[in-house]
Amino acid sequence: METSKDSRNDQTSSSNMNLDLYLQALNSASSGIIITDNTQPDNPIIYCNKAFQTITGYKNNEIIGHNCRFLQSQDRMQPERLELKEAIKNGKECKVEIRNYRKNGKLFWNELFISPVINDKGVVTHFIGVQNDITDRKKAEHELREEKTSVERKIQERTKELLGNEIFLSSIIQTVRESLLVLDANYTVISANSHFLNTFKVTSEDTVGTLLFELGNNQWDIEPLKELLLKILPTSNPVIDFEVEHDFPHIGKKIMLLNAYRVEFEGQYKDRILIAIEDITEKREIDRRKDDFLSIASHELKTPLTTIKGLVQLLQRMPPEGATQKYLSTVDKVGTYVDRLNNLITELLDTSKIQSGNIELHNEPFDINKTIKDTVENLSLATPAYQITLSGHANGMILGDELQISQVMNNLISNAIKYSPGSDKIEIYLSKVGDFVKISVTDHGMGISPQDQAKIFERFFRARDIQKKFPGLGIGLYISHEIIANHKGTLWVESEIGRGSTFSFTLPIMNDDDNRK
Ligand code: ADP
Repeated sequence: METSKDSRNDQTSSSNMNLDLYLQALNSASSGIIITDNTQPDNPIIYCNKAFQTITGYKNNEIIGHNCRFLQSQDRMQPERLELKEAIKNGKECKVEIRNYRKNGKLFWNELFISPVINDKGVVTHFIGVQNDITDRKKAEHELREEKTSVERKIQERTKELLGNEIFLSSIIQTVRESLLVLDANYTVISANSHFLNTFKVTSEDTVGTLLFELGNNQWDIEPLKELLLKILPTSNPVIDFEVEHDFPHIGKKIMLLNAYRVEFEGQYKDRILIAIEDITEKREIDRRKDDFLSIASHELKTPLTTIKGLVQLLQRMPPEGATQKYLSTVDKVGTYVDRLNNLITELLDTSKIQSGNIELHNEPFDINKTIKDTVENLSLATPAYQITLSGHANGMILGDELQISQVMNNLISNAIKYSPGSDKIEIYLSKVGDFVKISVTDHGMGISPQDQAKIFERFFRARDIQKKFPGLGIGLYISHEIIANHKGTLWVESEIGRGSTFSFTLPIMNDDDNRK
């Protein structure tokens, strides 16, 4: 008996030891584990492990004996509760994600798995519940969902915006008073705006999908244009203000300014060419009429002026007997003003000659040192109030029109005087730079703004603020620029507002080849 009692004791102690081990195992699990007794009313909890206490914040004695529902606090309307109830009633396993509340009232998401314990008679005696705190995962899922909706919303807004922009842009493109064409990499027209279709009397059907050079009976098969366009894609260099004159079969002769750019929109398209065509036929016609008018008007003015000049000279040479000093000085003044008027008209005439390409160059070799020296001396005599100094030296003969170069010097020095009120010093510097002579005229006057510097060599340009204060037609610099260009030199300006300006020009020195010509 002893032996059997001992062995019973042994069995008991070994099963106690096993139970301890199991309990320890349960306590070291990170999931919360509970056991409920289904044989007792209201399924009380009869066991909970440490993790369950940690997750919920309740102590063991606050848990044991209670039904699990205390974890839901007041949040009772969750559909998952019904799922759980149904599983318990039917003795089935069930897994739900349910909102639970810790002792301190803080919400946590519980991933709850319940599983029935069924005895050998098939009766459900207990339920085992395993819980995991999935609050962080839920939060991340929630944030992800939020992020997704916000991204979707943004995409929708952006799409709407892009669509709006596209409609906006295409309405601009359709209304601009300039012809626009978009070509693909093979020079096939992808789109053409209304202005293009109206100007060139073509339909959209005939244009879109056609090779540019084959458009309207090959009317765009213009060799220089072709050459430029073929260079755009490989080099990405735009074509800027390329002038094309072409006789179109239906619409006649057109002068056009073409600008073409390579356009690329990453991800959507590559290698497209946008061509903007400005029809300048009418503008050119108006310019031509203006030039014709200038040329005729100055010619007409010059004829009677030459007669007046002759008559004044006659009066100067043969004054009437007993003519007073006053009479003589008045005749001299008339002579001076006739000369001034004559110079102005000559300038106007020169301008129209330059425009029509009719300016004549009387090319002869001349010594530039001497020309500059003589011109400066003459001007110094005429304007004694100014100190015009000449320095530097450039040995070399120039093949060109000495009178015209002297006219350029006159223009630059007269401007230096005219636009330097309050300053009486003008410096002229002559030097040899490589195969060129360089002449600079520096004043310490009002200077020219950078914007105006870009325009002063244009015909009829005058800085806005000086227009009323100083007389002039705005053609002296234009003529000078053209004269120097005709002599294969360059004329440019460096200036700072309020500090003065330096106008410089270069002229190529004559070489042996020129001599032989
Ligand atoms: P004009 O003197 O008859 O106006 P120009 O062609 O000689 O015509 O000069 C064009 C414009 O350039 C002038 O109206 C003036 O605004 C500016 N300009 C020329 N020379 C000077 C200078 N030395 N200093 C300041 N401005 C100048």
